[in-house]
Amino acid sequence: MKAFAAKAPGLENCGYMDLPEPKPQNGEVLVKLDASALNHLDLWIARGHPSYKTQYPRVLGSDGAGILEETGARVALFSSTFCGKCDACLRGLTSSCDVTTTLGAQRDGTHAEYVSVPKPNAVPTTLDPQKAGSLSVAAVTAYHMLKRAELKAGQSVLVWGAASSVGSYAIQIAKHLECKVITTASTEKKGHAEKRFGVPVIDYKTEDVSERVRELTQGRGVDVVVELVGPATWNASMPSVRKGGAIVTCGAVSGPDVVVPLRWLYSNQIRFIGSKQGTLEEFKQVIRWAEEGAIEPVIESTYPLSEAKKAFQQLSEGKGFGKIVLTR
Ligand SMILES: [Zn+2]
Repeated sequence: MKAFAAKAPGLENCGYMDLPEPKPQNGEVLVKLDASALNHLDLWIARGHPSYKTQYPRVLGSDGAGILEETGARVALFSSTFCGKCDACLRGLTSSCDVTTTLGAQRDGTHAEYVSVPKPNAVPTTLDPQKAGSLSVAAVTAYHMLKRAELKAGQSVLVWGAASSVGSYAIQIAKHLECKVITTASTEKKGHAEKRFGVPVIDYKTEDVSERVRELTQGRGVDVVVELVGPATWNASMPSVRKGGAIVTCGAVSGPDVVVPLRWLYSNQIRFIGSKQGTLEEFKQVIRWAEEGAIEPVIESTYPLSEAKKAFQQLSEGKGFGKIVLTR
């Protein structure tokens, strides 16, 4: 079959190539893919990342949708596998499973003609493949963060990065849950974000974000801050959160370390919450929301699988707004 894969760590070692068709193991099903969206994770795996024990060659891609070979059913693929038995799984934290794997990282992924996945990971859907193949990583991550922070209807939330995939889904899900959403974007993307989401957008390049958040929340700050950037935004995230509120983080895009002043943390009774990917049930929920039109995958551009290299180039430049999807 044709696939876009990394032969060894390094973007120069990635290419469109012929590989053997996967053979489903016990409990797995074969899916003929129609579409697969790119994530930053693809770039990390392509380059080699210390957090992911990846063996090469590896077919890249975590998000995907296609047809179940066995039955002809249209399915969207959940990107993580889990055991269902370990301490983390039994507490509903399947993305921290002792033996979790992610498609396109520890097992072959979706930028191919075929992929083999555990049967529960292939979720039936009526969505068109490009949308269905754009939800697993980013939308589930966004929803899991809001759940971890216990966001409730009527509360306020600051979502960093309207142009990021996780940001765009966090905004839409929080709006759907009837929360007041504030977001941020660069000067170039502010207008687009306002039109797209219909919520206040703070220009993080020219405005004081926490000051604007205070203005927009009658001086109180927001109930929840959705963090995915790290050191570059942290000093504005802290003064943006309300007393008793929560900062939830799923990423460290700008670096691994921030300073948390303990006096600030305890005297304001802030909850600081970690969040990683999400659960199969959350994936089924975001699929339902997308089918109902409550959330809309933002697709920026599409390329045929054979031109995946161009798509990766576009992703690494990071200029876009929305998902880049590979079609078959
Ligand atoms: Zn487990």
